[in-house]
Amino acid sequence: MRILFVASELFPYVKTGGLGDVMAALPRAMRALGADVRFLLPVYPSIRSEFKILGEAAALPELMGGGPARILRAEAPGLPLYLLDQPAFFDRPGGPYDYPEDLARRFAALAWAAAHLGRVGDADGWRPDVLHGHDWPTGLMPAYVAYGDGPRPGTVMTIHNIAFQGRFPAAMLGDLWLPRHAFTPEGVEFHRDICFLKAGLKLADRLTTVSPTYAREIQQAGGHGLEGLLAHRSGSLRGIINGVDRDVWNPAKDPNLLSRYDLKHPARRWPNRPDFQRRMGLQEDSEAPLFAAVSRLDPLKGLDLVLDNVDHLVSSGAQLAVLGTGDPHAEGAFRQAAQRHPGRVAVFIGYDEALAHRAFSAADVVLVPSRQEPCGLTQLYAQVYGALPLVRRTGGLADTVVGATPNTLADDTATGFMFDTASGWALGEAINRVLALFRDPAAWRQVQRRGMMTDFGWEGPARAYLDLYASIPSKGA
Ligand code: ADP
Repeated sequence: MRILFVASELFPYVKTGGLGDVMAALPRAMRALGADVRFLLPVYPSIRSEFKILGEAAALPELMGGGPARILRAEAPGLPLYLLDQPAFFDRPGGPYDYPEDLARRFAALAWAAAHLGRVGDADGWRPDVLHGHDWPTGLMPAYVAYGDGPRPGTVMTIHNIAFQGRFPAAMLGDLWLPRHAFTPEGVEFHRDICFLKAGLKLADRLTTVSPTYAREIQQAGGHGLEGLLAHRSGSLRGIINGVDRDVWNPAKDPNLLSRYDLKHPARRWPNRPDFQRRMGLQEDSEAPLFAAVSRLDPLKGLDLVLDNVDHLVSSGAQLAVLGTGDPHAEGAFRQAAQRHPGRVAVFIGYDEALAHRAFSAADVVLVPSRQEPCGLTQLYAQVYGALPLVRRTGGLADTVVGATPNTLADDTATGFMFDTASGWALGEAINRVLALFRDPAAWRQVQRRGMMTDFGWEGPARAYLDLYASIPSKGA
């Protein structure tokens, strides 16, 4: 089966969050199972020099008002790529979602290029059976397939985060190369706007999201306005949990760590702790429970609940390290907390991949108090690296962490800690449970081992996606 992935991020070339990680691992896991998966990505300046260009797959004289575009063939390690080369839209410094003035047109261009490959194929005659788009930037892809001519590949849309929807004024319909009859509730219209994600969710053959619990939540109160549509399409919607890329996230061979370790050599984890404390400006305290958070600072991530507990943590003798960037208010509040508690609270405002790896290898506890969490990766990385995740019971966090209770401790299934209510008080109560277990090193080690032993491999999820593709009826030419 031939499959084309389409997305705005691909680690290590461009990543703003979990999407980039998943895009790097999932198609390769499917290729390992024999599927012919290729990937379409825009050429950002950060990646222009990374690849040898192998040829031209298609030339488009004009695309979405951004001038001429080409689709180039290239090869990332273990993953054939198509690169959408359209300098006016993509060849600029900054992040993938900067430049609001042409945000809609440039991701429409990406979606259109995908649909073009799906309908016409590349210059060598490779044509995908299935187009698989990820998140709102690719939401118009099923629309271009549905409203276009020629053969129709199957289409799949995956929701990695339903809070980002890509809503734009109705007046842009023509700019986005959409026909007038697309602007209905059955098409791209959403409350008199054009909504990219809604279009994809309405028109794709199959829908997925990244955990079974999130799949339920987005059909109920957590759908950010799309719950009705999703409930209506529930027969076509599946929740498939993300995995961990063990080539990138593996403490036994992680080049970012001072000391590499595994289940058989847990003591080798220890040297990473003073190394991380030093880098962060924390006291090299070998006794204090070390809490860490590695997160975008976004209200949905619930880091304000951590802010509510800074003094509680410090007065309990714990240390706190936060790596994050995003909401300026939250950034300022964490900076102030670090100033109030020098050596006990440390904050790195920014994005640092290596430091994130070091945090997971050093922390005792990784905080993930999200209000909503489609899947979440940091609680998985925490478990793989021997830190215990403390998570709120929502979305993928509920599906991937077994909270410590007398029962789960007794039957050795606990892998972390869980709380329910999104309040500072509830997190504080969970922190007390963490501190109580921390005083029992044997019990702590048991939970740590169980987490490190859990299989978060990509093979199972990759098979689930391949089964899903196989369930799409062929539409022929
Ligand atoms: P989301 O996709 O909502 O941001 P995930 O938990 O799925 O959340 O993925 C977050 C990814 O981004 C993880 O790989 C995490 O390590 C990384 N990350 C988040 N913030 C930072 C940061 N400040 N520095 C380095 N990596 C970060």
